[in-house]
Amino acid sequence: MSEPLFLKPVFHEKIWGGNHLKTVFDYSIPSDHTGECWAISAHPNGVCQVENGQYAGQKLDALYQNQPELFGHPTKAVFPLLTKILDANDWLSVQVHPDDAYGLKHEGELGKTECWYIIAADEDAEIIYGHHAKTRQELADLIAHQDWDHLLKKVKVKAGDFFYVPSGTMHAIGKGILILETQQSSDTTYRVYDFDRKDDEGNLRELHLQQSIDVMTIGEVENSKPKTISDGAADITTFVSNDFFTVYQWQIHGEKAFIKNADYTLVSVIAGQGELVVADTIYPLNKGQHFILPADVASWSISGELSLIASHDGK
Ligand code: ZN
Repeated sequence: MSEPLFLKPVFHEKIWGGNHLKTVFDYSIPSDHTGECWAISAHPNGVCQVENGQYAGQKLDALYQNQPELFGHPTKAVFPLLTKILDANDWLSVQVHPDDAYGLKHEGELGKTECWYIIAADEDAEIIYGHHAKTRQELADLIAHQDWDHLLKKVKVKAGDFFYVPSGTMHAIGKGILILETQQSSDTTYRVYDFDRKDDEGNLRELHLQQSIDVMTIGEVENSKPKTISDGAADITTFVSNDFFTVYQWQIHGEKAFIKNADYTLVSVIAGQGELVVADTIYPLNKGQHFILPADVASWSISGELSLIASHDGK
């Protein structure tokens, strides 16, 4: 039976989290320090469950192993992507992620290339996106001297912006930003600087300076170049397309028919409401819902006034 797989998010409290996952998306969150909604995840640190249909109650990691036909009989051993919404009520740590080779060797899991769609941002909100060091030695020296003003590159952001953050990129999401993140399914983070913050028990969070210096890319970060194709019913923007993932925005204003162009597709409704139609069945869509269109869904349509972020594995 061809049907979408709607997923139940998993929430993580964070020192920098807030309550926007409730006020904006109406999720029931564990506290006013909720930082992350793991919306489509098969990662062991937060596995989503299917909410509807014949697979209701099943966990995405088990489904990926036991029903490979839903995912086009994938060759990858683990579900490769992870979709999150992050509520940065304060700065996240300044950090970097390893690539696959380093991650598999040192952490036993994939590296992490990620990308961000800015859902909302306070006026003057900023991110850290890259650094100014010209050599690895200069990078190590500036970190050793905690000379953050000379090291870190800050960029102003606004709603609708998109940032591609390949592994090896120095980055931090700034205060007052709500982001949808599409990333490799990995939870390995090397912290460079955490603003000297202490948690409720008075402890500093661990830093990983040597690993950070090892994996950091030296040189400019190159953002991706989005391309938009519009017709009467939708504006389809491709933000990035590479070996890790392809990420789109589907802005629907009418009724738009889709034909699948990947084994399976991850979809998040970030604004508006409407309907999804799969095999003559209507599924109401609302802001905050997340679903996978599995391999046996060859075509679908979406109608209404909606903004969705969609992604699939690889190009
Ligand atoms: Zn990150």
